[in-house]
Amino acid sequence: MPEAFDAVFVGSSFASSFFLARWLELAPSSARALVIEAGPRRPHAWRLAHRKEVLGWREDHGLYVNETPDKPWITHVELGGNSNCWWACTPRLAPEDFALRTRYGQGTDWPLTYDELEPFYVRAETMMGVSGADDHPVCPRSAPFPLPPHRLSAPDEALARAFPGLFTPQPCARPSVATSKRPRCCASGVCELCPIDSKFTVQNELAHLFEDPRVTLWTEARCEGIDVQNDVARGVRVRRGGREETVRAELVALGANAIFNPWILLRSGLEHPELGVGLHEQVGVDVIVDLNGMDAFGGSTSITGHLYSLYLGERRRDRAGALIEVWNVPMLRLEAGKYRQRVKLKAVIEDTRGGSRVDVDPNDPSRPRVRHAGPSEWTRRAIARLEDDLQPVLDALPVERVRIGEPLPTEAHAIGSTPMGNDPASSVIDRNLVHHRVRNLVVLGSGAFPCATPANPTLTLAALSLRAAEAMLA
Ligand SMILES: Cc1cc2nc3c(=O)[nH]c(=O)nc-3n(C[C@H](O)[C@H](O)[C@H](O)COP(=O)(O)OP(=O)(O)OC[C@H]3O[C@@H](n4cnc5c(N)ncnc54)[C@H](O)[C@@H]3O)c2cc1C
Ligand code: SF4
Repeated sequence: MPEAFDAVFVGSSFASSFFLARWLELAPSSARALVIEAGPRRPHAWRLAHRKEVLGWREDHGLYVNETPDKPWITHVELGGNSNCWWACTPRLAPEDFALRTRYGQGTDWPLTYDELEPFYVRAETMMGVSGADDHPVCPRSAPFPLPPHRLSAPDEALARAFPGLFTPQPCARPSVATSKRPRCCASGVCELCPIDSKFTVQNELAHLFEDPRVTLWTEARCEGIDVQNDVARGVRVRRGGREETVRAELVALGANAIFNPWILLRSGLEHPELGVGLHEQVGVDVIVDLNGMDAFGGSTSITGHLYSLYLGERRRDRAGALIEVWNVPMLRLEAGKYRQRVKLKAVIEDTRGGSRVDVDPNDPSRPRVRHAGPSEWTRRAIARLEDDLQPVLDALPVERVRIGEPLPTEAHAIGSTPMGNDPASSVIDRNLVHHRVRNLVVLGSGAFPCATPANPTLTLAALSLRAAEAMLA
């Protein structure tokens, strides 16, 4: 007889773990959950000892077939997934992001509002220990940030003075003060592998989930499909130890990310015209500013500021909005007396679903195949106009020289391949992340986002997971 569980969770990173955390709070003591994680458990000490190898995982290392290799998508297949390597920037979406189509005729509206998600943002921020300033100019809050904001740098302070109501210290899960489990962030600026385990990861804050007596964790076990009969998920097919087995479950929660979730759904006979279509993300552009007489690098974490002057409002009708990040990593200027007189700004430009696709590789069905069609015209217009649009921002700084880089290959934010919506014809899952047809299947993660607005996605996908768990158990 196959093993049977109340719920099976695929993946062990943000999407699954935040759902699991709320599920465990609401489920009875007799409940049984199985977490299936394709990769191994690699503790932080192991990661530090294998630093070179770990940082080499920026490539796809054979996990999927990339037909457009200039466009990589970084995915760490291991316990905790990309929480191990993320930079822990945790802005919320802006309220107007949820109604982009209605307000500006671009992208797709979300099937829920900022106000509906707000209480779950608060909970996700609490679980991650987010540092931030309570008077956030754009995202209204019903509760203070768990931790105070980080110290700003001199360029941040200049921008805050020039753009009152549009600047804030970056909210982040890099703690501004020590927490019970993590030391204070010390601004070393190498967050992909934090040397002191300061940023939030699933392994450092949520390890207790996998110790819960109701939870069984299988690592190096890969979900290869869902067993669906008469529009009901009966369980999942798992490959581990070289053989395939079936596990029975009342609820299946997919948290394998926007590349692997559609691949699993497609291998389960759940084809849909919008499934796997429209994989996209934001486009980052670095702007290096040499400063005249102003020292940068005085803040207390790696990215200190958020400027919203190119993000909001009617300009989004014509071209995509951008969030400006102010970086605080050591980028020394090799000129006597000017070592710290350089700052990196990064424009993170939004995009919408286009002609990109994830499907099952016909030559090797054990892997997803990914093709990226490039950014939309709307996003390209924003990139083309960036130099002009940035002028007021640069005017706020004592600029000696500016270099605007080429669009970066990836922001590592895979979005939009399992979109949510109210209409089952144009979306794969509903506003509670439940599959429109298979009502005991939830599809978690940023694949659910109808579009990639400028804010980083992970806090939002974590909040959506908390909300989905509550809706499912209600
Ligand atoms: C270098 C880097 C920096 C980043 N910085 C930020 C940031 O500052 N802010 C931000 O918001 N976002 C950031 N991101 C993005 C962020 O990491 C992702 O949004 C987030 O990790 C997505 O969470 P997830 O749980 O959906 O998926 P993932 O973290 O990708 O986890 C998916 C999990 O599923 C597992 N899995 C995959 N396939 C299977 C299968 N078939 N069976 C079983 N398990 C499977 C994987 O091993 C993994 O554990 C960054 C990403 C990278 C790479
Ligand atoms: S800035 Fe340094 S201490 Fe802070 S999270 Fe990043 S790597 Fe860790």
